[in-house]
Amino acid sequence: MNDLFQVLSLSDTEGLPIGIAHEATGEISTQISFHPFGWDQEVEISKEEEKHPEQTITQKITSCLVHTVKSWGPYDFTEMKPAERQLRIRDSYFADVFTAYCKLRMEAIGPEMIVFASCPKCKDNITWEIDLGSLDIYQAKSNQVIKKYEMSPPIKIGSNECNWIEAAPVRWEPCYSSPADTFATSDPRFRRNIFADAIRNAEGIETHGALLMTDERLRTLSKRDIERLQKIIDNNSGGPDLRSKIKCPRCGLEFAIISDWSYDHFFGSSSLQNL
Ligand SMILES: [Zn+2]
Repeated sequence: MNDLFQVLSLSDTEGLPIGIAHEATGEISTQISFHPFGWDQEVEISKEEEKHPEQTITQKITSCLVHTVKSWGPYDFTEMKPAERQLRIRDSYFADVFTAYCKLRMEAIGPEMIVFASCPKCKDNITWEIDLGSLDIYQAKSNQVIKKYEMSPPIKIGSNECNWIEAAPVRWEPCYSSPADTFATSDPRFRRNIFADAIRNAEGIETHGALLMTDERLRTLSKRDIERLQKIIDNNSGGPDLRSKIKCPRCGLEFAIISDWSYDHFFGSSSLQNL
C-alpha cells in the first residue's frame, strides 16, 4: 500500500489499526473491549431502530457499537451516556470503527460468514463462506498518519497550483453523515464529505484552521484531480480491505466482491451456514 501501513490479518491484530486520541490528554490508545453481546444489547439496538427507522448502514453500525463497546481507546464507555459514546465513535477513524465492528462480529458470533454473489462469467448464484479472521487489515506503523503527498503535475484548487497536499485518514463522521447508504466512493455526496474530512492542507492555501475543501473549492477540481485525490485518500485511510475473494464452484473463476456489511446480515442468521 504505502509506507504508512503494514498488512495483518484481522485475527493477528490486537487492537485498532490507528488508535483513538483522548480529546483532553492527547493520549492515543488502540485498545478496545466489548460487553458480552446478548439479549440486552439486541433490545437497545432495536429500540434505537424503532426511534430512527431511516438509519443508514453506517448509522446502524454506530448504534451497534454504542451499545456493545465497553472501552474505546482511552475512553471508558461504561461511564458515558449513549449520546456521548456515539460522538466518540463518530469522531474516530473509519479504519478503527470498521475494524471494531469486525472484531465484535468475531467475538460475538465467530469468524465464519456467508456471502452471496453472482458469478460474472457463468452467472451462477454462489453461496460462499468467508473467514473474517483472514480479512486484510492495514495497520498504521506509527501515530503519525497525516501524510504529505507531492503532486506532479501540481493539482489545481481554486486559482492555486499546489505541488503538495496533506491528507489524514478518513474519519467515521463523513460516512455517518452521508445521505448515501453505501461505501461507494464514487457517490458524489459521499465523496464531498470524505474530501472535506481527509484533505487537510495544500500548498499556498491558508485556511486559518477552517475547512480546506469547501464546496466552492471542490467545484474547481478537474475530474482527473478528483480521481487523484480519491486515490490518495484510499491509500491513506487504512483499516479492513472490504473485498472478499471468492471462487465460483461451477466454473472456477476467482473474483472479489464487496460483502454485505449491513448489521442485519452481519449479525443475522442469513450470515450463518450452520444454525
Ligand atoms: Zn462461474
